[in-house]
Amino acid sequence: MPGARKDYYEILGVPRNATKEEIKKAYRRLVLQYHPDRNKSPEAEEKFKEISEAYAVLMDDEKRRVYDMYGHEGLSGTYAREDFFTSRMDEFEDIFRDLGLGSFRSIFDRLFRDFGFGVYEEREAREVVVDVELSIKEAFKGARRTLQYSLWEVCSSCGGSGAEPGGLKTCPTCRGTGQIVRTSVLGHMTYSVARTCETCAGRGRIVERPCRACRGLGRVQSIRSHEVEIPPGMVDGSILRFRVREGSGSGTELVLRVRIKRSPYFYARDGDLIVRVPISPSEAALGTTVRVDGPDGPIDVKIPPRTRPGAAVVARGRGLWRERGVRGDLIIRPVVVVPKESRGARKLYEQIQKSERDAMERWRSRALRLE
Ligand SMILES: [Zn+2]
Ligand SMILES: [Zn+2]
Repeated sequence: MPGARKDYYEILGVPRNATKEEIKKAYRRLVLQYHPDRNKSPEAEEKFKEISEAYAVLMDDEKRRVYDMYGHEGLSGTYAREDFFTSRMDEFEDIFRDLGLGSFRSIFDRLFRDFGFGVYEEREAREVVVDVELSIKEAFKGARRTLQYSLWEVCSSCGGSGAEPGGLKTCPTCRGTGQIVRTSVLGHMTYSVARTCETCAGRGRIVERPCRACRGLGRVQSIRSHEVEIPPGMVDGSILRFRVREGSGSGTELVLRVRIKRSPYFYARDGDLIVRVPISPSEAALGTTVRVDGPDGPIDVKIPPRTRPGAAVVARGRGLWRERGVRGDLIIRPVVVVPKESRGARKLYEQIQKSERDAMERWRSRALRLE
């Protein structure tokens, strides 16, 4: 979601050191209030998503710890957002059944899919997007690529705490609560104001001796590489997904965005391959045979005499893949260019021009009449 994201604790209205019991109680209260089937106000749906996400994260020890240390950014670097929910589906179902709210899964499907989650069952892994550029030939034949990508992972030396063993201590300013509460008395009223502790940024703990492996970040960046087989028939903008399993986790989904290399002479369109072939004025006049490098090797193409601008010669079924098993066309478009002047060519051109002059002038005076 764009913009500054709200704090999970604030969303649920619980303190930073809330127990699971307190978090669960808060969620049960709020979900009765904001369930879209019960609350028809326009902001209820958004609120429902917020509280459900906050609940899912804060009930999970590992995710809560990442969130406490690094906030939303830390979570999005470590988990796909669907991960928040998929592991807690049964728990949500229990709560919903208990409260008489029907099925969680059905409302999850309804709300979160158009929320941009896609099909969550297939996307439990985190995604890494990699751009790949293919030549036209590779797009036709398929290719093999070794992809390099980097992942942020919880530091194994410190388990994500960012501190050497025993190097973490309770924040002395807030005594571990993450909040400073000031209680004042006004007349016969007592009120208290809470703000986030500045010493520990609300974490409740401070790092005394930072972990040497991650320099206190709690996370380490690891560079991975993975070889993939790209099938034939890719077009510009094709998206491919590869699931990479690593260790015990749910793995990584590599999302390949395919770009086709640009060329001034070759152009792929809907399975057709268009080739701009430079020919000289004399070749345009007399016709010629040109050799073109097609997807499956060189092919000789006859260009007829008196070629007009925009004319094309089509070799049916010799282009790229239109769909599986169906080839597009190879379309040759001659482009008349004047080659660098060779010795003697100028004299010959002058002779040709002279011999053509009368005919051309007659043609122009007949044709170029603005009526
Ligand atoms: Zn570490
Ligand atoms: Zn503190």
